[in-house]
Amino acid sequence: MGSTLRNLIPYLKPYRIHIILAGFALIFTSLATLSLGQGLRLLVDLGFSSDKNTSDIYTSDSLESNSFMLEILPFTVGDLSSYEKLSLAIAFLLFLGIIMGAGTFIRHYLVSWIGERVSSDLRKSVYQHVIHMEPAFFEENSAGEIQSRILTDTTILQTVVGSSFSIFLRNALIFILGMAWLFITNPKLTSIVMLSVPLVVFPILIFGKKVRKLSKETQDKLAGVGSHVNESLLNIRTVQAFHHQNLELEKMNLIVEGSFSVAAKRILYRSYMILIVIVLILLGISFMIWTGGKDVLDGTITPGELVAFSFYAVMVASALASVSEVIGDLQRAAGATERLIDLLSLEPKIKDPTNPIEIPKSENYYLTFSNVRFFYNTRKDKPALDGLNLILPAGKVTALVGPSGAGKSTLFDLIFRFHELSVGSISINGINIKDITLSDLRKHLGLVPQQPSMFSGTIQENIIYGKPTATEEEMIHAAQAAHCYDFIQELPNGFNSLVGENGVRLSGGQKQRIAIARAILKNPPILLLDEATSALDAESEHHIQKALLALTKDRTTLMIAHRLSTVIRADKIFVLDKGKVVGEGTHSELLKSNELYANLARLQFIES
Ligand code: ADP
Repeated sequence: MGSTLRNLIPYLKPYRIHIILAGFALIFTSLATLSLGQGLRLLVDLGFSSDKNTSDIYTSDSLESNSFMLEILPFTVGDLSSYEKLSLAIAFLLFLGIIMGAGTFIRHYLVSWIGERVSSDLRKSVYQHVIHMEPAFFEENSAGEIQSRILTDTTILQTVVGSSFSIFLRNALIFILGMAWLFITNPKLTSIVMLSVPLVVFPILIFGKKVRKLSKETQDKLAGVGSHVNESLLNIRTVQAFHHQNLELEKMNLIVEGSFSVAAKRILYRSYMILIVIVLILLGISFMIWTGGKDVLDGTITPGELVAFSFYAVMVASALASVSEVIGDLQRAAGATERLIDLLSLEPKIKDPTNPIEIPKSENYYLTFSNVRFFYNTRKDKPALDGLNLILPAGKVTALVGPSGAGKSTLFDLIFRFHELSVGSISINGINIKDITLSDLRKHLGLVPQQPSMFSGTIQENIIYGKPTATEEEMIHAAQAAHCYDFIQELPNGFNSLVGENGVRLSGGQKQRIAIARAILKNPPILLLDEATSALDAESEHHIQKALLALTKDRTTLMIAHRLSTVIRADKIFVLDKGKVVGEGTHSELLKSNELYANLARLQFIES
């Protein structure tokens, strides 16, 4: 547990001043809490005893060893009347109260602050690691799981750093100092207290283990509730189209009730634990007071000493109970840290080269594929691309055509270096993309996907995603060129209209034109364009074709083509099948020479 939590040290280091101050406040308040026992002793022995008794007590041996509180006073207590002594004792208690209040304020503020700070830093740090991971990573690690780690695991750590750990330290300190005091003042009574310690710890350990197991189970059940809500709401249209709301509700009821029954069990065990601990502590203390009471009657100790002693015994016992309880929290934190550390130790497989070459500025950019072979990790038996040799000429439109599963999207991903090539190379103007930094490479590439992704902000935010520094004028110009200006103007809030999650408030054709505007704004020298397969109405189609014409003019473009108008216009077409190039030429050449193309053209282009 300790070695896992040690991984948090680098996150605590920047706040060492806060930690030191909090540490001082913690020691200070713990000492003040312990001094309360002395205050109580003074209150009983000075305030409530007759003058005669007091002077007896004041001279008694037992008191002398503990009379430092009296010695620091600027007068002799024996000179004061009983009322004055009572007031003095109360003043001392009040003074301790104020000190404890101030110390607790500082400690609580600082420690909670550190907890919030560390968990915020961790959230940023984990996100910073995850966002650079290659797409294949997210095939194995679901976004939902990573999201939960960034939120829940860091929250557990926040509780631990921001409270449990400080509770642990404070109680450990109180336990040690309290024990020491007990031993020094009265070894006999302390032995009685000591006897009850294992009695208290034992049930805590037994029940604590059970409670911890049930806590973990509760967390898992809660995650199940979350994922059911998430999934059903994500697919709300399908759920409602089948009118399966009640079915989903029943599933939800089952999951929620399952989670409740585990939680109820956990609460029951905890309540048992509290009950047993309270009974045992009371038993121990009663026995102690009984023994101590006899000592008071015999005159061996003063009543104040017995009160102080009982106070320390209660403190020590409850400190011990708290320590054993927060150990559970610390264990949970160790688990959470372990999972976070897994994420923090991630290294992207696709990285910048150590000695990068910059793509020289040029008017013309061309792409070369030499013997490109690629296997997906999960499909080692069959290459997705198998020995491709292609040249995409500068400033021209090249179309990729082929049946589904031919490897067209894979080729796009490889150009972006979303995956690492197994064999061969892809080059821009003769420079292998592996020798270029990812930022330089992706600066030169633009993508218009088949189903453009939208961020749930305004239309303006979605367009300027292509160039965050764009001026309003540039944005409007891009919107006009992409043929989306008119429909945006017709929306109630124009460019400030919200698009909804993943652009639900826009039609497919509108989303596509926004993606084109985004690409126009970015103005990349090389464009990768995945044409939409779904049929659009004639007007949208017309607008999109016009927008594409503006976008692809004099630009090195690779298009996954699904439309007749595109293939006719393309300067060159590659026919791809099962990861191999099986034909190249223009539309009319291929119609004559390539059977697969002729079939595809008849089915895909001409009939649509
Ligand atoms: P296309 O875009 O031409 O329809 P793809 O490039 O999507 O074809 O797919 C090429 C082949 O690679 C297919 O056999 C497909 O099943 C496989 N494939 C695609 N993506 C993955 C992936 N992430 N993991 C494993 N295999 C994949």
